[in-house]
Amino acid sequence: MPISLSEALNCLLPQAAPITETEHVDLWSLMGRVLAEDVISSFDQPPFARSPLDGYALRAADLANASHENPAVLDVIDEICAGNVSDKFLEPGQAIRIMTGAPIPHGADCVVRQENTDYGERCVSVYEVLSSGKNICPAGEDFTTGTLLLKAGTLLRSAEAGLLAEAGLTQVPVYRKPRIALFSTGDEVVPPGTPLTPGTIYDSNLITVGNALLSFGAELTVREHCPDDASLLAEKIRTTAGSADLIVTTGGVSVGKKDILHEVFSLIPARRLFWKIAIKPGMPTLCGLYENTLLVCLSGNPFSAFVSTQLLLRPLLALISRRPDLLAKKVSAVLDTPYRKYTRTACYLCASLQDGRVRFPAGRSGNGILSTVVGSNCLAVIPANTPALPAGTSVEVIFL
Ligand code: AMP
Ligand code: MG
Repeated sequence: MPISLSEALNCLLPQAAPITETEHVDLWSLMGRVLAEDVISSFDQPPFARSPLDGYALRAADLANASHENPAVLDVIDEICAGNVSDKFLEPGQAIRIMTGAPIPHGADCVVRQENTDYGERCVSVYEVLSSGKNICPAGEDFTTGTLLLKAGTLLRSAEAGLLAEAGLTQVPVYRKPRIALFSTGDEVVPPGTPLTPGTIYDSNLITVGNALLSFGAELTVREHCPDDASLLAEKIRTTAGSADLIVTTGGVSVGKKDILHEVFSLIPARRLFWKIAIKPGMPTLCGLYENTLLVCLSGNPFSAFVSTQLLLRPLLALISRRPDLLAKKVSAVLDTPYRKYTRTACYLCASLQDGRVRFPAGRSGNGILSTVVGSNCLAVIPANTPALPAGTSVEVIFL
């Protein structure tokens, strides 16, 4: 009896565990990686009080009643650009020309924007009154010494990388990537780049599923095709299992003569967790365990393999790689056109969601059809035992 998708996940997920091994990566290699240790700042950022604008550093007390009609006139005793430091101490009646990012000189307590002055070089007329502290970014404005900058478990993206750079770090510890061995099967399947002979087709599953796994942040330790030879595949699985967190295969899980995965399981031997999920596509999925390694064996139909990758491998990878962001995002949306069929088994249909409305692709769809997946941005979920749905009905959609 097929089990439901949630039963399948409840069976699979407890067999997987988050990766604990870590490695160091530099700031150019951390996109999508998960931080393995807290990062705490060891200094203030910025390390010094600085000017947020181009103008003049001065003493607020010197500007009493200053205005256009009655400017405060100050001696300009120095000029500081970002990257320089002034060694002058600013006395009453003095100003220092200052550029954005330069350190506030000693003795100054505010900065006037240059647009509110006459831009004087030797002496400057200031046209406004400022309060002490105005236009000064204090030291530690972004973070101070001892601040928890990033918690262990944080998904690293560009802003996190930038924060680590601000903190002066060049590398950080992250959890290693999940390692997956991926096999496609099928005597009829040949790699692109070789000539097609009668009865053969190109291997698309290896590429579709493999690229999806790469996009989920996995490393493919093996990505190869295996003919429909149960002993050969059993041997390949046995030898790769030790170095993989997960083994994924496509094809050979149904009930035909060449559906070798059942025999492969008994040869390895692998313990079957379940066979068949009550969903379309992807019904004949077979899952098991060889020692501690999970085997997820998907149907060879290209659309089925694609959908099963989204429904099964995505949550598995989210768990193994500690990336809840990989979990499918779901929303409810309204059918733009009717769905005319009675649905006995829960169905996942590729569709495009725009402005809250779901449209199905114009071309054919089916287990063996990948062309209409291109251009789709979601899967529309039609639950089991649903009568035909008129346009305007709300359905759940899963973002791809
Ligand atoms: P199977 O699951 O092995 O019974 O295959 C189901 C259908 O998918 C058959 O029409 C196969 O030829 C096709 N198929 C299987 N594996 C692949 C593959 N790697 N790439 C493209 N099509 C495949
Ligand atoms: Mg096959």
